[in-house]
Amino acid sequence: MPAPVVAQLNARPVPGWREIASNIAEAARELAARGWTPATAGNFSARADASSAVITVSGRDKGRLTADDFLLVDLQGRVIDGNGKPSAETPLHVQLYRRDASIGAVLHTHSPYQTIAGRALACEGGIRFEGYELLKAFAGVGTHETQVTLPVFANTQDMQELAQRVEARLESDEPLFGYLIDGHGIYAWGTGVGDAMRHLEAFEFLIGCELELRRLAR
Ligand SMILES: [Zn+2]
Repeated sequence: MPAPVVAQLNARPVPGWREIASNIAEAARELAARGWTPATAGNFSARADASSAVITVSGRDKGRLTADDFLLVDLQGRVIDGNGKPSAETPLHVQLYRRDASIGAVLHTHSPYQTIAGRALACEGGIRFEGYELLKAFAGVGTHETQVTLPVFANTQDMQELAQRVEARLESDEPLFGYLIDGHGIYAWGTGVGDAMRHLEAFEFLIGCELELRRLAR
């Protein structure tokens, strides 16, 4: 296993990054308690400043996370401070922070609905939610009379290649709050941990509704 790439020596740790890590660890424990991070799956991050983020160390039990289970990385995913190896999916987190200065937290979970929806709907390229009152949970949405898209990407173990496909999709003008990976799980983000949690919970609910509607329609 190659050692993690260490950030340039002039990258100094952001004071207080462990408090930021504690905050997101609490959110992660809550999501683990719902069964959305089975078998150490999932990873979580929060922005520390304009050029760094805290992210989970690979392979830790998400139900027991503390600040010690996080690393400070730069926005290329290189370790600035902390012990351990960053999550393999770090490129998918840092690309969002690089791209959009308003993004403050990124949550990645593997609930059954999230995993099944990716499998069932990958051929459609995504899910378009419309007419749901809960769409108002998404930042800036004030009515059910709107559409929010959740794209589905094919899974791969090549995170750089997946990050490139995500990047291409993010180029569109349509605001996105997350995406699914086929047979894998969901990424959801927001301006902070609370915002990202609300978006993730809304997606979980809406995905469940769509799966049930399709079952009824058969
Ligand atoms: Zn994953």
